[in-house]
Amino acid sequence: MNITNNSNFKKPLCRSSFINQIRKAILSSKQNNQMVALLFIDINRFRSINEAFGYTHGDLVLKSVTKGLVCTLTNEAAICKIWSDEYVVLLSNINNIDHALDYVEKINQFFKKPIIVKGIEHHLSFRTGIAVCPNDCSNAEELIHQAAIAMHHAKKHNINHSLYNLSITNKIYRDMELETDLHKALANNEFYLTYQPQIDTRTMETIGYEALLRWHNPLRGMVPPGRFIPLAEETGQILEIDNWVLRTACQQNQEWKRKGYMPLKVSVNISMYHFKQKDIVKNISAVLKRTGLTPRLLELEVTERVTTDIEHAFSIFHELKQLGVSISIDDFGIGYSSLNYLKKLPIDKIKIDSSFVKGMLECKKDTAIVSSIITLAHNLELQVIAEGVEDGQQLSLLKKLGCDQIQGYLISKPIVSNNFQKKFLKKPS
Ligand code: C2E
Ligand code: CA
Ligand code: CA
Repeated sequence: MNITNNSNFKKPLCRSSFINQIRKAILSSKQNNQMVALLFIDINRFRSINEAFGYTHGDLVLKSVTKGLVCTLTNEAAICKIWSDEYVVLLSNINNIDHALDYVEKINQFFKKPIIVKGIEHHLSFRTGIAVCPNDCSNAEELIHQAAIAMHHAKKHNINHSLYNLSITNKIYRDMELETDLHKALANNEFYLTYQPQIDTRTMETIGYEALLRWHNPLRGMVPPGRFIPLAEETGQILEIDNWVLRTACQQNQEWKRKGYMPLKVSVNISMYHFKQKDIVKNISAVLKRTGLTPRLLELEVTERVTTDIEHAFSIFHELKQLGVSISIDDFGIGYSSLNYLKKLPIDKIKIDSSFVKGMLECKKDTAIVSSIITLAHNLELQVIAEGVEDGQQLSLLKKLGCDQIQGYLISKPIVSNNFQKKFLKKPS
């Protein structure tokens, strides 16, 4: 986009002048009973432009962005390039939040056109956080901080813009506290595993089990995996946690072997974060060596998300197969729609997501989906297991549809090792 000089052309302010401007705007808005809005704008994935074309080129792109953003400003507005590819815009004396939202639309329009630098077209996008005074605060620095928090919220939730509110900050504080507790959880032995059996639908025998993590914190009580696992994935703590689960599940399996029980395959969930690590295969191989577990007794559960980088998935899956472990696709049917990966990747099993199993009895469409997944799996010579099976009617229908295995409360909730041993393990007769 070519930016021509226009009569409204303003210059971006330096940080200290911009903060002074916010202070003045806050004072004036109080006197006039008006509002001030601050927008924190971050350009998405700008780093990749620097990496691909070099910093000098990146600087030229940013210069064009700055010029373009300046052109979107009205008389009552000011802009500051606060950091690298981050901008803050001040809208003074506005009547309501709609003005700020209209301004976001204006930036949207600006970014719809490519930025052309040295003949190269760059299609950029952005995220914005908005904080307003007097609603949110009456202090210049705090207003910038709140707009930045709102921007991070927009980024995290993959939305174009977000309005600051107190609950965003509260959630950040709650997450920070949880993160601190999570750091101590391993050292304080607060994690333990539960095991849920997987049953062959023809023989109704237990053929394996899934290891599921539990966290009991002395002050918080039980913290559900749905609460702490996404946070651990965000902070990278999941790596240590996944490794602990893997090691503990393999050790337990070996211990049961030593006690003389018939061997069963253990399924362990591998997070997307862990899967992305270059040394994942080395890591799993080291756990198998250390615990002495036969690789064919270990199954790794990954979700369809891992196939977003099909090249990486391809090489990791092949190396894992060479190790001798099996791979199953968890929560199948709710993730990415391309089924292309199924023919490319060496998968052993598909786990039909519990949402389809749940809906099966009331909704013919869910039954159709379950039936199609089973046929698809069998045509590809894959095993198929239904999870979240809670009643006998679901089991009968799944048997009729030819589902190989089931897992769910109908057989057992996930239970601690002692109980699992008593209820589901057998010694050769
Ligand atoms: P998932 O891997 O899909 O695990 C199945 C979830 O369904 C488990 O929830 C299990 O307790 C629950 N479930 C099993 N049968 C039934 C049933 O019949 N009805 C209902 N309503 N639920 C059933 P849980 O243990 O709360 O785990 C939730 C999720 O947290 C797991 O979903 C998995 O994504 C993650 N997770 C759990 N343990 C680990 C772990 O060790 N590592 C990693 N990376 N993720 C884990
Ligand atoms: Ca699972
Ligand atoms: Ca699942």
